[in-house]
Amino acid sequence: MSKTRNSTEIANGSVADEHEPSTGAAAPQVDQPRIARAVREILAAVGEDPDREGLRETPARVARLYSELFAGLHQDPRKHLQKFFTEKYDEIVLVRDISFNSTCEHHLLPFMGTAHIGYVPNGRVVGLSKLARVVEVVSHRPQVQERMTEQIADLLEQELGVKGVAVVLEATHTCMTIRGIRKPGSLCVTSAMRGIFRSNLSSRSEVMTLIYGHTPR
Ligand SMILES: [Zn+2]
Repeated sequence: MSKTRNSTEIANGSVADEHEPSTGAAAPQVDQPRIARAVREILAAVGEDPDREGLRETPARVARLYSELFAGLHQDPRKHLQKFFTEKYDEIVLVRDISFNSTCEHHLLPFMGTAHIGYVPNGRVVGLSKLARVVEVVSHRPQVQERMTEQIADLLEQELGVKGVAVVLEATHTCMTIRGIRKPGSLCVTSAMRGIFRSNLSSRSEVMTLIYGHTPR
């Protein structure tokens, strides 16, 4: 587990420090004309004619697509966790089946699936939709599933001071299903446990039972 490294990355505001100035300047947005030029170059490099009718609009279209897919690079997921309610509730809060799509940073191909987030509050409870917002921001960056899982757990731990947080991600990676070893249907499952879900076996099995609807074997 590389918890410390991930915590540092989040503390620095982004996983992609090299894309952002270390000064207090406004975060740069995605440079669409630059993407469009690069896509045109890719089309030429694979042996296509970027000027033929069907492809003429493609570079600009892909540029818009990429600025949507990577919008999370320029957003701080912590802002969704700033508004919380003070509640005495100290049992598990679970939001299951938050669908997401992200982009594998090794191939720039999509991976998509669902996130399940459970936590035990320590006086601070957030609106349930905020958890989905956090997933939305961290998924819209070049990602690896393992890191994304840990980032979500770290954010909840740091911003809400939870007693415990459990994050489980299940995803299909198109870089595995459409190329390489071509294994359609394979599911990658990752989990990150913090606090009591890490230290207490019965708490962990309780949250896993809530996520899966049965006791995991
Ligand atoms: Zn990949």
